[in-house]
Amino acid sequence: MKIPKPKKKISLRSAIRVTSRDFAEFIKTRDCLSTSGSMEMGKCYTCGKFFTRYELEAGHFLPGRHRSILLDERACHIQCILCNRTLMGNPDAYRMRMMADYGQTVIDEIEKMNRLSRDYTIEELIKLRRDFRARTACLILRSIGQISW
Ligand SMILES: [Zn+2]
Repeated sequence: MKIPKPKKKISLRSAIRVTSRDFAEFIKTRDCLSTSGSMEMGKCYTCGKFFTRYELEAGHFLPGRHRSILLDERACHIQCILCNRTLMGNPDAYRMRMMADYGQTVIDEIEKMNRLSRDYTIEELIKLRRDFRARTACLILRSIGQISW
């Protein structure tokens, strides 16, 4: 009799890593399409210059990649490498854009969340990952006119 292999268990750390990767792809797709109409180009949230998708990163509003806002789409936008890495997020410009796009109430909420620690479960991360992948697919299909909603 063949003994079934036990299902490979995914660690919380790797679940966070893969979910963050799909979250970043969602952010890049969302922001490239909204700023250039194309998946291949996008406008950096903080310096306003256009770059190819491969020169853009999903940059967080607040540093530290704190878990409670790690996957909050309001706190993450495409940034060029100069702004995201060299200028460490270009925080003054980021805050000004956040103020214009979301307002002080949302900024306060995100800053409050960032002070709280949040523990995800693997099931939660799997669900979030599925949602981000589905939403990315919807954005792509909409951009090429395959769906109209
Ligand atoms: Zn930039």
